[in-house]
Amino acid sequence: RELEVLSYRDSLTGVANRRMFDTLYPVEWAKARATGEPLSLVVVDIDYFKQYNDHYGHVQGDECLRRVAQVLDAGASRSRDLCARFGGEEFVLLLPATDAEAARGVAERCRKLLGNEALPHARSGVGREVTVSMGAGTIVPGSDDDPGVFLARVDHRLYQAKSAGRDRLCDVEP
Ligand code: GH3
Ligand code: MG
Ligand code: MG
Repeated sequence: RELEVLSYRDSLTGVANRRMFDTLYPVEWAKARATGEPLSLVVVDIDYFKQYNDHYGHVQGDECLRRVAQVLDAGASRSRDLCARFGGEEFVLLLPATDAEAARGVAERCRKLLGNEALPHARSGVGREVTVSMGAGTIVPGSDDDPGVFLARVDHRLYQAKSAGRDRLCDVEP
């Protein structure tokens, strides 16, 4: 059982790992389909993190990842919410029974909590502190919908947020 817990946890940050997300996302998708409740995703990527590593070094880069992960984990606070490390410096929030307005609230709370941390980032292109860009989306899955396609749509909004200047949320169709 301990092994099972460990294998679903990201060892660097302590939050859930990609495997956990890949396991839970289809489960929550199916529940949303059955109940008609909205399911939301928020994908998060740290801004100018390569420059952060280059300037502060990888040890402090790892510490920054931990701090951001804890902030996101605290921001997604409902019991069924999941905060997972999706890849290097990218995270995903899986928010069951959450409509678009509530998802926006979660994303904004995360950005506020991160602002409270005030992590210095001397080489950021958008300010002097660590910031994130986010893409969000909400769906009541129907028979024609596909979880992979929906995730790709939300991920596309993250890249819209990046190209619109970073340090922001994009939660509408570009
Ligand atoms: P953008 O604002 O467009 O997101 O730029 P970026 O620099 O954040 O994005 P890019 O994908 O170019 O760089 C991501 C960096 O994240 C590169 C890599 O060194 C760093 N990274 C990924 N995983 C880890 C990790 O586990 N620890 C540390 N310290 N750095 C990591
Ligand atoms: Mg990235
Ligand atoms: Mg990045």
